Amino acid sequence: MRQTIVRRPTRRVMVGHVAVGGGAPVVVQSMTNTDTADVAASVAQVHELWRAGSEVVRLTVNTEEAARGIVAIREKLDAMGCDVPLVGDFHFNGHRLVKAVPECVPALAKLRINPGNVGRGSRKEEQFATLVEAAARHGKAVRIGVNWGSLDQELLARMMDGNAQRAEPHDPEQVMRDALIVSALESAARAEALGLPGDRIILSCKLSGVQDLIQVYRDLASRCDYALHLGLTEAGMGSKGIVASTAALAILLQEGIGDTIRVSLTPQPGESRTTEVQVAQEILQTIGLRSFTPLVTACPGCGRTTSTVFQELAQKIQNWLRSQMRVWRGRYPGVETMNVAVMGCVVNGPGESKHANVGISLPGTGEVPVAPVYVDGEKTVTLKGERIAEEFQAIVEDYVKRTYGGAE
Ligand code: SF4
Repeated sequence: MRQTIVRRPTRRVMVGHVAVGGGAPVVVQSMTNTDTADVAASVAQVHELWRAGSEVVRLTVNTEEAARGIVAIREKLDAMGCDVPLVGDFHFNGHRLVKAVPECVPALAKLRINPGNVGRGSRKEEQFATLVEAAARHGKAVRIGVNWGSLDQELLARMMDGNAQRAEPHDPEQVMRDALIVSALESAARAEALGLPGDRIILSCKLSGVQDLIQVYRDLASRCDYALHLGLTEAGMGSKGIVASTAALAILLQEGIGDTIRVSLTPQPGESRTTEVQVAQEILQTIGLRSFTPLVTACPGCGRTTSTVFQELAQKIQNWLRSQMRVWRGRYPGVETMNVAVMGCVVNGPGESKHANVGISLPGTGEVPVAPVYVDGEKTVTLKGERIAEEFQAIVEDYVKRTYGGAE
């Protein structure tokens, strides 16, 4: 029997119209890498991320031009029918920006505050309060986002001193991990004392080490019921970033920890930012938490497939399914749970195809050049010739209409 994931109970936070925590589906977030002051470029990228499935998009707010840009970006997105909630990422000068450009706060759904970057010494409390009170005044959510690369150094020094006094001091790395959690929890308590309700607070404690991240989130989750945002910070490029993020997030999600996720990938030059959205969706879908797009099961190929026909078909079908989802999402409810198998030969092909909603087993080297197709476990037709790809695609499309089309 398939194991179901029991989500850890947290408070539900509304980020604009999107529910985070409290049993709501795990939310996919992303972040722009445009200059927020460049309104046209930022609108285009937010829109692209939203079209790819990002349910919340964060933008940096680092200058007054960027803060004014947020207002214009929100207006333009609304005019385009894009209602994705925007999050403002504030560091160092956030307190000044929300005073200089107060209209940026209502344009945001959430403010991200990094307690390590709100100020030093006596000014820290006041500057933190300015941001929290601005959010509270406008009914906005706040993510208290602690990051080990910018951990509150005064807090860390205090905790290191305390550790040194212990009869048996802890490992300094353990103290550092504790400091991340204490920074998040103390900041959340201060925010509540300043008038921000607990159901408008989301916490995150990001690190770049997989085992460190898992330990910190397990501990954090056991110590509070705030909604939690998960992400492995600075995950890296390409497969390294994807694997590291998946390894960390999948374990925590499996334990029911995490209400919203972001996969922080460094794009290749010229690569679309949407890869991080696709990876986040695939993590959630492959572990069975949510469904976004039909999945293609494909074998890796081996010496029994000496042509590239089946790789090309698997790729073509996956791309086609993804592109169709823009239309299918509204028209064919449930289609996102469909599974399509594209297999390379008779060894596992028919068996795997029978487990899929629609499956095709292509001929391996030396096999009769025919491709049996299975629909809901039954062999329905055998394709051959030059147009196998087109004919298989038509079979999948017909299946979608019949199975998910309702009264259409
Ligand atoms: S299904 Fe056939 S082609 Fe694919 S990996 Fe297995 S043996 Fe190789």
